[in-house]
Amino acid sequence: MTGTEPYYLPSGDEIGIFEQCHRRNMAVMLKGPTGCGKTRFVEHMAWRVGRSLVTVSCHDDLSASDLVGRFLIRHDGTQWQDGPLTRAVREGAICYLDEVVEARQDTVVVLHPLTDYRRILPIDKTGETIEAAPGFQLVISYNPGYQRMLKDLKPSTRQRFVSLDFDFPPAEREARIIQKEGEADHATAQALVSLGHRLRALQDRGLAEVPSTRLLISAARLIASGIPVRQACYSALVSPLSDDASLVGAMRDLVDATFV
Ligand code: ADP
Repeated sequence: MTGTEPYYLPSGDEIGIFEQCHRRNMAVMLKGPTGCGKTRFVEHMAWRVGRSLVTVSCHDDLSASDLVGRFLIRHDGTQWQDGPLTRAVREGAICYLDEVVEARQDTVVVLHPLTDYRRILPIDKTGETIEAAPGFQLVISYNPGYQRMLKDLKPSTRQRFVSLDFDFPPAEREARIIQKEGEADHATAQALVSLGHRLRALQDRGLAEVPSTRLLISAARLIASGIPVRQACYSALVSPLSDDASLVGAMRDLVDATFV
């Protein structure tokens, strides 16, 4: 293990399962809401297994060429340039595709031969087929709540991954994370967790995205830097979550009730 350990507080046996998957060349899907620790987990695991990490944030314009590579036109001809996936395959790195469902279906299909016993990446444009170097592992993240409304991963893709379920950490653990990552004292961290739970309950009243651990940490950081507590919560928690006047009002009331 090299470099500094990325701080990650486990919630269950996800570290052990991931280690086994890494050892046995199995691809992994991290399932859970945004801001609940999936990226931090994969950073931590890459450090733990001693592999470099190549991260790609997927979006609906992401093409297979963006992942695999393309010919660049130069003054003296054309030159092939590996994309991030190809780099990871050659180097034996962990390739993390964040929010993979956002990517176009033809992009996702490129991943298939890397997720089974073949462990190969055919590059149509060069005619080359690369065998994945030892240590290469594919990890994708997936937000089921969000995706259900919009898009979904095909069953033929889903079944190629071992899935680890993530959620916001239990209260006591979330408070520890906020203390450490948000430089908060114990009482402030606990109050933010309790506010987070109250705000998350507003989902029943139409709040589309609930406050994540990440947002609670942002509020803690503003507080630690001297911004008055309620203002920090309005700016870091309330305003990013909604523009709807009645929801914003309800959230502000919850902030005021938590930090009287
Ligand atoms: P996701 O990838 O699920 O959207 P992140 O991994 O970016 O979420 O998590 C957001 C932030 O929350 C991280 O940068 C980290 O500060 C914190 N965090 C969440 N869960 C944990 C955890 N279990 N251990 C340590 N930090 C965590």
